Amino acid sequence: MRTSIAILVMFFFPVFGFSQYAILPSEKNSYQKPTSYDELSSYIQLLDNQSDLLKVEIAGQSVAGRNLYTMLFSSSEFARDESKIKVLIFAQQHGNEQSGKEGALLLAAELLKPENRYLFDKIDLALVPQVNPDGSENNKRRNANGMDLNRNHMILTEPETQMLHELFDRYLFEVTMDVHEYSPYGESWKKYGYRKNADITLGATTNINVSENIREFSGNVYLPFIFKYLGDRKFSSFTYCPGGPPGEEYIRHSTFDVNDGRQSFGIQNTFSFIQEGMNGKDDSIENLKHRAEGQMTGMRGLLEFVYGNKDKIKFMVSEERKKLLAPAPGLNVSIQSVHVPSGKPLLLPLLSYTTDSDTLVRVKDYRPLVRSLADVQKPLGYLIPKDCAIMMDWAGRQAFEQVKFKKDPGIQIGQYMITAIDSIDFEGEIVVDPQVKMNDLKELPAGRDFIYLPTAQLKGNLLVLALEPKSMLGLVTYEKYARLLKTGQSFPVLRIMKK
Ligand SMILES: [Zn+2]
Repeated sequence: MRTSIAILVMFFFPVFGFSQYAILPSEKNSYQKPTSYDELSSYIQLLDNQSDLLKVEIAGQSVAGRNLYTMLFSSSEFARDESKIKVLIFAQQHGNEQSGKEGALLLAAELLKPENRYLFDKIDLALVPQVNPDGSENNKRRNANGMDLNRNHMILTEPETQMLHELFDRYLFEVTMDVHEYSPYGESWKKYGYRKNADITLGATTNINVSENIREFSGNVYLPFIFKYLGDRKFSSFTYCPGGPPGEEYIRHSTFDVNDGRQSFGIQNTFSFIQEGMNGKDDSIENLKHRAEGQMTGMRGLLEFVYGNKDKIKFMVSEERKKLLAPAPGLNVSIQSVHVPSGKPLLLPLLSYTTDSDTLVRVKDYRPLVRSLADVQKPLGYLIPKDCAIMMDWAGRQAFEQVKFKKDPGIQIGQYMITAIDSIDFEGEIVVDPQVKMNDLKELPAGRDFIYLPTAQLKGNLLVLALEPKSMLGLVTYEKYARLLKTGQSFPVLRIMKK
């Protein structure tokens, strides 16, 4: 009946109607200061109390003991409906990049509007609005241990990155996005006379060990979609391409390292992206409203894309992950790579410091492609000695699958002998490049116990990249693990190959 519906609407609207209860902290503060941790905590709790779509969970604790929240959006029970696609969006690994958090909170409010409910017919979304609350409270990039969280996804020494990976391992999201800010105001750019000016930049996975199908679909289908989506909503956008200024340093599509929030999930054959909004000058809050809205629009666009391509993405991820789960003798993993030109110059949109107008600069030294410099054949697995505490701890934090090791005549136990330690250029930094000779062992070394990590697992390529001593992304390139590499001695890890 018409009247009772009207009464129901009147009755329910104040409860479920979005605008009735949700005053964003950023709006309350008129964007004159960033949302504090306390404001964020009470705001998302309020949303949780008032919406049936959202459940807020405490996913972990920061170094200083602040809660790390996950906002689980689902029209049913989260991750229960196999037909849905799971998306993880996380923001503010860097505490001085405030618009990621503000954008995530805007997104939460947006998603609870009735007109957006259709998204959850197909999507279960986990939103982590603030990975680094300790950094955020002080407007500092690093966490309270002084660690850059977005360089920590390989060694996972910090509670904040551990939280993200536990979350990922629990749900195995098909799509992930890591939300940041970039700062275009560097001195070298000022001297050059131009700076980058896009509201939003976006990047996909570039490590060549990530499934080629996923990389191509991300780069050729998602990126054009999102550029148009943002443009239609009056936000400028461009490909995420650090480096420069032109003439001084080459421009590339970021890093192929797997220690950041994009590639550490990407290497598990996930559709994984980075989104960077433009920071204010000197990490200030200038333009914070526009910045937050740009970030929100980018995240909202990702959800729209995933909604429209749900079956295709789910199928592709499932097929590509099957390949990781199967034993893969004969397959290669690239352990040293380099950025190379594609032959096409880059037309880079920049803002002139002198005229304050937009211009396109033709960048000659543009290296968008990644090529392998050294491959290894993917082994069956690796043995880690139980008496090597730092490696055992690491394997535990990465939660690798372990199986019982069975020695049989068909396998070969390889021991790495380090004959010399050279160095190699990795994206402008110098990292160790050991010279290695393989010894075949007839038996396991007497009196030592090992755990066995097979490469036939979702983190199989990650294992190879972490444990091969010549990997330029390997554990031994981190200070804490460098001492595992000694000239004239064997490396503690053993490699198991098919004969
Ligand atoms: Zn960042």
